[in-house]
Amino acid sequence: MQASSEKKQRKVVYLTFPPESSNKPVVCDLARVYGLDFSILKAQITPRHEGQMTLELSGPAEAFEAGLNYLRDQGIGVTPAAHRISRDEDSCIHCGVCTALCPTKALSLDIETRLVIFDDEACSACGMCTKVCPVAAMDILLENGVM
Ligand code: SF4
Ligand code: SF4
Repeated sequence: MQASSEKKQRKVVYLTFPPESSNKPVVCDLARVYGLDFSILKAQITPRHEGQMTLELSGPAEAFEAGLNYLRDQGIGVTPAAHRISRDEDSCIHCGVCTALCPTKALSLDIETRLVIFDDEACSACGMCTKVCPVAAMDILLENGVM
């Protein structure tokens, strides 16, 4: 069995780009230079204008801090974004795909009704269900007033 000595982090961050940085490939550098995985959740970037982007970032803790400091050095505003997960009850087709990978059992199958139950109190907001749901019923909602 292999054990990783590096502690991993996963965070959602909200970035604000000054006009002079809005066309630089700084987000790609997070993967290329710092080895971080990223997923762009929302973005509004226009060349030569101020831009905003919401990113989900994951990677080893040390690289994480170095990557965020790199962004700050480029004049980019970095704000950690609190987030939670919600389910669009009208979209869910109760296929059960998400129940197999939900680590906290916040998504589970009710044997009697054959419906998938979402317990948001048990949800750790890891975001895994949002990547596999075939109808995008699971969504990441950002709190603290960002995009
Ligand atoms: S994967 Fe999506 S559609 Fe399927 S049960 Fe889960 S939330 Fe519902
Ligand atoms: S975000 Fe993670 S913990 Fe929450 S319901 Fe989805 S898979 Fe389960």
